[in-house]
Amino acid sequence: MTDFSNSSNSNKTNPDISATVSTDVYNNIATRPDRNTHNGQVVNINLSPEEVNKQQMMDSVTIMLKSVGEDPEREGLLKTPKRVAEAMQFLTQGYSQSLEKLVNGAIFDEGHNEMVLVRDIDFFSLCEHHMLPFMGRAHVAYIPNQKVVGLSKLARIVEMYSRRLQVQERLTRQIAEAIQTILDPQGVAVVMEATHMCMAMRGVQKPGSWTVTSAMIGIFQEENKTREEFLGLIRHKPSFF
Ligand SMILES: [Zn+2]
Repeated sequence: MTDFSNSSNSNKTNPDISATVSTDVYNNIATRPDRNTHNGQVVNINLSPEEVNKQQMMDSVTIMLKSVGEDPEREGLLKTPKRVAEAMQFLTQGYSQSLEKLVNGAIFDEGHNEMVLVRDIDFFSLCEHHMLPFMGRAHVAYIPNQKVVGLSKLARIVEMYSRRLQVQERLTRQIAEAIQTILDPQGVAVVMEATHMCMAMRGVQKPGSWTVTSAMIGIFQEENKTREEFLGLIRHKPSFF
């Protein structure tokens, strides 16, 4: 990282035109700020953990760019570490969310005891083995025990767990268990259909393959008839190909 402490120092002691220019240059370096000094003084760096993480991610991307033989200083790549870090923060924001905050009291005592199913919830996740995307559709159902949750919250729960490093099997189970936890329903069923970029773009290179996982809790596990009803309701040709 470029050290600007000297130019900043001279700005303080000899305010002249060139020093002003160098200060402007200093202020304009948005993506690579000097984090060690302020006007030549070493300051207590009071970055939030998020900013620290972002800087670390940016540094890692720069290393990866060099590792593949690229020149991180060439024009097209100058902002790439920042973009990748921001994308990664977005794609893993599920780590900083909690079920409690997400549901935010949107649980209602409706006395409803029939199946609630939200089908075809798009999701995008990253596999924890390759940090490559896997994406597809989730189908989430539960049979209430009086209590229901706002329908959009089911999609939010899928989103929260998807935006972490995952394996599809665990993701499916976590969604089911989350609904079990917040509603204590008679049962929960989650089916996820996904295509994995780590299988499509590399490895076995099978772009047409897709993976189905399911998690059944309570009555969906115990009662064939209930499970069959659910599977009948979601049976369809996946439309993401
Ligand atoms: Zn993978």
